[in-house]
Amino acid sequence: MREVKRSSSGSAPPAKKVHSFFTQPAGGSGAGPSRGTFDKDASASLVHYHYLDPLGDTPPTAPVELVLYDLDGTLIKPSSGAKFPKDRNDWMWWNPIVPKHIKDEIKSGKHVIVLSNQGHKAPKIRNEWRAKLPLISAKLGDLPFRVLGALEKDIYRKPNTGMFDFVAKLYKDRGWEIDMDKVVYVGDAAGRKRDHNNTDLTMALNAGIKFYTPEEHFLGETKAYPHPPDSFRPSNSPALQDNLPPVVPSNTPIARDKMEIVVFTGIPASGKTSFYRRHFTSYEHINQDTLRTRDACVRAARKKLEEGKSVVVDNTNRNKATRAVYVALAKEQGVPIRLFHFTTPPELAKHNNVYRALHAPADEPKRELLPALAFGSYTADFELPKLNEGFEEIRTVNFVWEGDEEQRKLWDRYLQ
Ligand SMILES: [Mg+2]
Repeated sequence: MREVKRSSSGSAPPAKKVHSFFTQPAGGSGAGPSRGTFDKDASASLVHYHYLDPLGDTPPTAPVELVLYDLDGTLIKPSSGAKFPKDRNDWMWWNPIVPKHIKDEIKSGKHVIVLSNQGHKAPKIRNEWRAKLPLISAKLGDLPFRVLGALEKDIYRKPNTGMFDFVAKLYKDRGWEIDMDKVVYVGDAAGRKRDHNNTDLTMALNAGIKFYTPEEHFLGETKAYPHPPDSFRPSNSPALQDNLPPVVPSNTPIARDKMEIVVFTGIPASGKTSFYRRHFTSYEHINQDTLRTRDACVRAARKKLEEGKSVVVDNTNRNKATRAVYVALAKEQGVPIRLFHFTTPPELAKHNNVYRALHAPADEPKRELLPALAFGSYTADFELPKLNEGFEEIRTVNFVWEGDEEQRKLWDRYLQ
């Protein structure tokens, strides 16, 4: 049995313990599908597989070194040559050097952990992927092997750092210190021409850890990818200047005492609803996300005006035809109508879409992640609002970040 090792003399049991990971087989230990354990300690969207456990009860005095790997295109690739694996057996090492390289790392005391995005929703594909993990582990022999898999577009999905954060917490909870200066992450999604994206690189940058491509790490090749990455991040965006005034013109009150209609125009996730909450507390909120149709919005707005209340129409109102409906309502009700134009650039709006769905502070209403389509259709149909459509005033609202330092750090990450 593998748990104990006889002393070399053979004359003096008791057996001497070796590394703790040899003493704690987790789940089955054969080469079959029962080898290792799928933990239930994570969220439903996070797979946590491990074979053996390198985290013994007595942490070492020196911090441990972590080598983190992406899986597909980094450690393994389909043996069929297809882009995606057909089943659990359709895999081979990315390069024949990989298993020895990993074994050497583990034997030298480093902890090897795989962080993998798994976007496929089909249960069969997910099951085949899970079933592959014990097979990969078996090829590494009796060495510890841990894999995390992000199934949904949430905090675990790279470039978000949820999987790395999960690892950091796991080690902390067990009393093990990680040598943060020596953590490396190896992945093939680095933004090179042939790469499907650069989320391995941007995840590493978000987490503040070193990044290498498999070519660099396993083959010793030199760095060959755009660095800094060609991805949106607020602090790298020339379109975003912190010194923009939030509202232009800025010399008159935003909300008024007299009854009126205020129409918002702006791409999804441009800050319209937050602006409403901050500045228009006495106005009724008209919003198509909750009322479903434009007709329902118009009916609701008319009802509130007839009750003597001002309204804010918090929709994208992207073109003249959409806005004309409310200009007509203002005429019908004999009230003035003003427009606030939110100029948030599409790249920033898409970024904010992810930020508010994944990282918005707990005291803000939960927002759903909008599909990319919502942004494209706004831009395609957009018509710049003009006074001669019937507005008494048009004001421009520039996006200005508001939130504490902790939130700003999360917001200023690569999120897509
Ligand atoms: Mg990959």
